[in-house]
Amino acid sequence: MTRADLVITDIGDLATMASGPVPRVGPAMRELGRISRAALAIEGGQFVFVGTEAQCRREVRLRAGGSRWSAGGGTVVPGFVDPHTHVLFAGDRAAEIDLKIGGASYADIARQGGGLFQTVLATRHATTSVLLESTEARLRRMVAMGTTACEVKSGYALTPAGELRLLSLIPILARDTGLRLVATFLGAHAIPPEYSDRPDEYVSALISKALPSIARDHLADFCDAFCEPGFFTVGQTERLLVAARTAGMGLKVHADEFVRSGGASLAARLGCRSAEHLLESSEGDRRVLASAGVTAVLLPLTPFASFAARASPGREMVDAGVPVAVGSDFSPNSWVESMPLVLSHSVYSARLTPAEALTAATVNAAHAIGLSGEAGTIAVGRSADFVAFDIPSAEHIPYRFGLTPTRVYRRGNRVPPAGDRTA
Ligand code: ZN
Repeated sequence: MTRADLVITDIGDLATMASGPVPRVGPAMRELGRISRAALAIEGGQFVFVGTEAQCRREVRLRAGGSRWSAGGGTVVPGFVDPHTHVLFAGDRAAEIDLKIGGASYADIARQGGGLFQTVLATRHATTSVLLESTEARLRRMVAMGTTACEVKSGYALTPAGELRLLSLIPILARDTGLRLVATFLGAHAIPPEYSDRPDEYVSALISKALPSIARDHLADFCDAFCEPGFFTVGQTERLLVAARTAGMGLKVHADEFVRSGGASLAARLGCRSAEHLLESSEGDRRVLASAGVTAVLLPLTPFASFAARASPGREMVDAGVPVAVGSDFSPNSWVESMPLVLSHSVYSARLTPAEALTAATVNAAHAIGLSGEAGTIAVGRSADFVAFDIPSAEHIPYRFGLTPTRVYRRGNRVPPAGDRTA
């Protein structure tokens, strides 16, 4: 008999995401590892039983003082994994909406010293307590919407020392929010004004002044770079990523977002874990990503938030056999705290099926940030991170825009609903 301190019963549709290879590719992205009339049992923050209600009644005993919750015939899925966020910054850019409506692009606004550079100034000047408090509030709203693990990129200091400061805050945020956070060094987010005519020197400064400290103090798991005209060339991106790999980091690229920059083919050539955005990637790019096994991290709300005509090429990527993950791209440019909303756009903009979108936001997203085996699935022995919704099946998560979870659990503990710190 299995002992448990928490039992969840009356789950109408349980999507475990636990069967199949990782990452999922092609038709395997539609395999949800579903159990109907299901139950879960948790002990010490880990799943100790995953199966049907009938099995649970036979095999599981609730400990004295343990708790039981009926999901009311609703749906339970793994905690969402958000594989791409720029959530660590100061200030906001709500005032940019008018500029965007007037036709200014992200790159136009950046060239005028606004946009990203406005956030860089605010972040450089913010005290550590302001940065921690504002970021923690965002992370708490994200977890209330079902995100239980996410990536956090640096990238709004754009000096070696400032970037190290941002990375050093990520373990504090993880401790204070209970979220599983993966740190990515994005010192090459943009060329800072001080180096506007010397981008190669900035890349050299990142390599000589930031990478050694990151490696020594284990400040980041991944290194990323923004490979686009006006940002970093393919050659500069490659120089930084090769040095980061030597320093023991995994590799990512912001690739082919505004134009076909060559970032996707660079990601394939270097064997990067992921290439991200990829709005302008070609059929040939998709072929090389698929054959290199590079995960495409798509951010379907970013073109929406930029009034761009193009949509993320989700359907094309899946059909080409590229492993696909989806994320929020939470930044001051696209303020997205809700993974259920990301799922809706993954379906209605990027044309993934609801099952593919759920795979992309859980098991494949975990793979994209090196958390396979730790996040994105519901299985015995795994951390009990899961989300319950009052809906008849998992397909309704993207189908119903703006859906809010009924309950979110992280390590077997119930997360307070959004805006409620006392629950
Ligand atoms: Zn991004």
